[in-house]
Amino acid sequence: MRIARIASPDGVMTCVAVAAGWLPVVALGVDDDPTALLVDPDLLRKALEAHGEIGAADVVDGSPQLPLGTTGKILAVGLNYHDHVREIGADAPSSPLLFGKFTSSLTGPYDTIEIDPEITTQVDYEVELGVVVGRGGRDIPLDDALAHVGGYVTVNDVSARDIQFSETQWIRSKSFDGFCPVGPWIVTPDEIDDCQALALTTQVEGVTRQSSTTAEMIFTVAELVSRLSAGTTLEPGDLILTGTPPGVAMSMPDPQWIQPGNVVRCEIAGLATT
Ligand code: ZN
Repeated sequence: MRIARIASPDGVMTCVAVAAGWLPVVALGVDDDPTALLVDPDLLRKALEAHGEIGAADVVDGSPQLPLGTTGKILAVGLNYHDHVREIGADAPSSPLLFGKFTSSLTGPYDTIEIDPEITTQVDYEVELGVVVGRGGRDIPLDDALAHVGGYVTVNDVSARDIQFSETQWIRSKSFDGFCPVGPWIVTPDEIDDCQALALTTQVEGVTRQSSTTAEMIFTVAELVSRLSAGTTLEPGDLILTGTPPGVAMSMPDPQWIQPGNVVRCEIAGLATT
């Protein structure tokens, strides 16, 4: 199932994709709470099965917004692609290189990323597979880890490189308002055959900058969920950014930072574009 938050004349509504378009979940008698649906997707699945025929009159026309419900924390992982580590001449980390992003950086898939040149002039893109936690947990064993995934989503881990490499903590450089575009929708795990075989790309102004696959991940989604939950409770709606492949501006000999007015398009095959 694909779950989105759609802005329509009646407000922003949690919707599920059906053949006719986006159907508000309240029309199925289900609460308008995307996080609850990720914890227990059977609620929505059963409601859809019970509903029968859905026509064009039932769906809404509107624009996708930030698809998440409650996000208590954003856990992000650096240097998690073999091809990216090779590109920058680093050694593969022996444990996930964890950092955080403020949740106030979250923004919708088509929103403008405001860049203040007084603060940063080296804004970079990072396409990433986002993992939204469904059922929460702590000390999650590896073989149960994927059962805690509520859905997958496309994320751009926007980064201010001048700040990232002039400060010992990465969090400020990764957390400016608008630095975490997400969406447009969340795909539940039943639609993803193998989360370690998804193609990811970034285009800036129509030119491909990043092109790889989640098969290059050093720590898999299951390993990240298990390791990040060691001693830390993962809660429903938490977002895990699983790292970016090669091709970011900072690794170019002559870095082509994001410029005002640029359109940055991050895409994961089988998921969506943000
Ligand atoms: Zn990143």
